[in-house]
Amino acid sequence: MTPVNPVKISVHRIPAFDDNYLWLFHGSNSDQAYAVDPGDAAPILQALEDLSLSLAGIIITHHHGDHTGGIKTLLSHENVPVYGPVSDKIPQVTHPLTDGDILSLSPGMEFRVLEVPGHTLDHIAYFCDSTELAPILFCGDTLFSGGCGRLFEGSPIQMHHSLSRLAELPESTQLYCAHEYTLANLEFAIAVEPDNNDLQTYRNEVINARNNDQSTIPSTLEKEKLINPFLRSHTASLHQVAKQRTGQPPKNDAEVFAVIRTWKDSF
Ligand SMILES: [Zn+2]
Repeated sequence: MTPVNPVKISVHRIPAFDDNYLWLFHGSNSDQAYAVDPGDAAPILQALEDLSLSLAGIIITHHHGDHTGGIKTLLSHENVPVYGPVSDKIPQVTHPLTDGDILSLSPGMEFRVLEVPGHTLDHIAYFCDSTELAPILFCGDTLFSGGCGRLFEGSPIQMHHSLSRLAELPESTQLYCAHEYTLANLEFAIAVEPDNNDLQTYRNEVINARNNDQSTIPSTLEKEKLINPFLRSHTASLHQVAKQRTGQPPKNDAEVFAVIRTWKDSF
């Protein structure tokens, strides 16, 4: 998609709870801001005030409370559209979205909706490449740096398919995940692939960043393909690991993914 009228998008990271990130974004020349996954209203309201922004809409990836808990309070302050998946678990959604829908927020600020079931069945992600900057993806709890969401509702096959779709996006895509889980994820990733040099380098960077209270999010798809075991089910390295875990060669990449995801659940 070639942008007719590309805009710059400013994205603000808003920490909440123990390790959640809520995201607030707006066109760089606009004070109309959109809150992504506002699990808590208070930090969003504070950020809007601090940044002199007005809430123009709410964008939801899936139904979990730490992504939706602030919707009601935000709506009591400002009656704005709520974009989200088709899901009876999120009754506040006014604009239900399905795979392939284009969410057009302003000229040049368009998000393509991808259905990515696995963590929950209603999970969607929002991809925007109509900006002057690198493409951006709000991926909720589907993809984390060094990891992926736990399978609460979907099957490993569904999640593997969802992650494979995200892996097809441009490598420069900035990944705005909803949690700072990176360091713990990398401890597991190193156990899976102890000889992965990119992973060891990244882990050192992450340790430094966290020691200095810096966030590791957003990550990029390019980096995750090198270090994230859940985006590497197709590699010979991961097939070998799966074979060692189960004692037999995996039938396909989805089976490799399932073996690694099960291992992570008890790591
Ligand atoms: Zn979740």
